Amino acid sequence: MRILVTNDDGVDAPGLLALKRALDAMGETLVVAPEHNWSASGHRKTMHKPLRLAQVRLDDGTPAYAASGSPSDCVALVMLGALSAVGPRPDLVVSGINPNPNLGQDMTYSGTVTAAMEGIISSVPSFAVSTDARAAARRGIADPFEVAAEFAVVVARKILAEGLPPDTLLNVNVPGLAKADIPGVQVTRLCRRIYRDELVERADPRGRPYYWIGGEEPTAEPGEGTDFWALANGFVSITPLHLDLTAYEQMKHLQDWVLQI
Ligand code: MN
Repeated sequence: MRILVTNDDGVDAPGLLALKRALDAMGETLVVAPEHNWSASGHRKTMHKPLRLAQVRLDDGTPAYAASGSPSDCVALVMLGALSAVGPRPDLVVSGINPNPNLGQDMTYSGTVTAAMEGIISSVPSFAVSTDARAAARRGIADPFEVAAEFAVVVARKILAEGLPPDTLLNVNVPGLAKADIPGVQVTRLCRRIYRDELVERADPRGRPYYWIGGEEPTAEPGEGTDFWALANGFVSITPLHLDLTAYEQMKHLQDWVLQI
């Protein structure tokens, strides 16, 4: 059993180390993560500049690789054989642990999730794990990644026993609660996020305008059964995601347009 562990927060992120240490119980882990934080970078493939892998050590001394590219580049590099000299192709990709939840349309921004998507594109079972580390810290929980790391092992074991259907990944969100306060696990659908982005315009020292996208934390439209709802009610959320983004129910409507070329 060989598990590729990656993230979008960078190779130094505490969530990556927590995830790696938990998954060590299952087999051989290989850590390949971006050399800096790529949060909210989306699904990105580096095509116009070289990619480099540097050998580094995590905080506990574990050898790891820092890649100059995006989270999905990390996965692609491994799946295409960049590290074939150090071992066989991984059997599982686990991405995280992101310190903030990834819900609803966050799927399109999240480097944590898109790294797992890249694993699926390479036909390797993959899942993403996120938690709410700030909420955990507010509640005085000493290790904000511990519960999510433990649950990642539960999911990994189940995937290895059951497999995943083709083109399907799992997006896992664990609330920032003590384990005893989590009532259970909900299988969910994606919420519809409400982003509260605000444009801040300022002037640089030369008087030219620049922009900063700020604003409050996103929320979501209410709806029982969504990933947002599960987290808001203290549950762990698992959402199956499919790479086929076709809006099937719109195909007939579009055919009725009778477009001609
Ligand atoms: Mn992140």
